[in-house]
Amino acid sequence: MFANERITAKGWNQDVRHFKYVLGDAAVIYPEEDANEVDDFLAKIGWKKVADKPFRIKRSQPTYYQSSLCVSSSLDIWTSQQYHGEASSNSYYTSHLMSRRGRSWKMEEFVAEEGADDLYEYCHFVRRNIKEVLEDCHSVQLPTQYVFNVFPPLRPRELSIASSIKKHPWRIQLCVAIVRYKTKMKPPRKGVCTTCIANFETGDKIYMSIRQGFIPRFPPSIPLIGVGHGTGLAPIHALVEERLTEQPSTSTTFYFGCPSATKDQHYASQMEDYARDPSKQFSYRVACLRDGLEGVKRTYVQGSTSRG
Ligand SMILES: Cc1cc2nc3c(=O)[nH]c(=O)nc-3n(C[C@H](O)[C@H](O)[C@H](O)COP(=O)(O)OP(=O)(O)OC[C@H]3O[C@@H](n4cnc5c(N)ncnc54)[C@H](O)[C@@H]3O)c2cc1C
Repeated sequence: MFANERITAKGWNQDVRHFKYVLGDAAVIYPEEDANEVDDFLAKIGWKKVADKPFRIKRSQPTYYQSSLCVSSSLDIWTSQQYHGEASSNSYYTSHLMSRRGRSWKMEEFVAEEGADDLYEYCHFVRRNIKEVLEDCHSVQLPTQYVFNVFPPLRPRELSIASSIKKHPWRIQLCVAIVRYKTKMKPPRKGVCTTCIANFETGDKIYMSIRQGFIPRFPPSIPLIGVGHGTGLAPIHALVEERLTEQPSTSTTFYFGCPSATKDQHYASQMEDYARDPSKQFSYRVACLRDGLEGVKRTYVQGSTSRG
């Protein structure tokens, strides 16, 4: 659990708290869009001149926003147009906002019931994002008051904390797979948050909060077996670090699965160093799915756990 302890005496006039995360908690990252991409996008939808003008959002309390700020940190311009739910309403609004001439284009068919399969092929299957849809529909004039109807909010993303607070008291370490993949669309698809993280330089700042994780507390006196694959090792890496930082009284075993021993065996040297030290009572087993000759039986994590 995320600890929230008062560290000034009860009754003292100032309430000072010590906050800390614990094993298994996740970092919740609030990503920002790339400034050049936002600029390019604002130019494409004709918002360049209005982008820095504050506008009012009517809620119970009036709130002011600048639309450029809004696009970079609050709205997801890369979201792919989903087949169901919230994002298919994007297509509805896009269709609605097309000029009469532009309506001859397929968008009106997409929002009709019989166009559902075509909409799936056009949007979801190739993970086409809203920016690309707007590029296809040249005639769409998007008034700024529709901004929240067309673009969903930019969601924060969760990433497991991969380090132990006992070993690294002032740091949070993450093990992050940068999301990037190909579809039939020419430009590769990119994850919003992990692309933002991948572009970080030392000293850059980002908003982050902590969410409680699911790993139960294990007393150090019981033997522990951890199993993880790829970046799924992150919380187990934290767990192993935590147990081995103090002199363990019992055994810890970690089974790790990855495609290749030499290409993506994360933290291999650290784990092997731990395993070489008899005082740590630590065993490290790896199953590398793609290593080995053609036709030779593959080793899976399940197989290595059953062999022990
Ligand atoms: C509690 C928790 C802990 C997590 N811990 C970690 C961690 O420690 N390390 C880590 O790397 N990740 C972790 N994740 C996963 C991570 O949060 C997601 O990968 C996240 O979506 C990445 O954000 P993004 O903005 O970069 O990608 P997004 O913009 O959210 O895009 C991700 C989406 O892209 C699509 N996608 C991705 N790859 C492909 C592909 N090859 N083909 C087709 N579609 C694809 C999928 O729909 C996926 O949902 C965790 C998730 C949770 C819920």
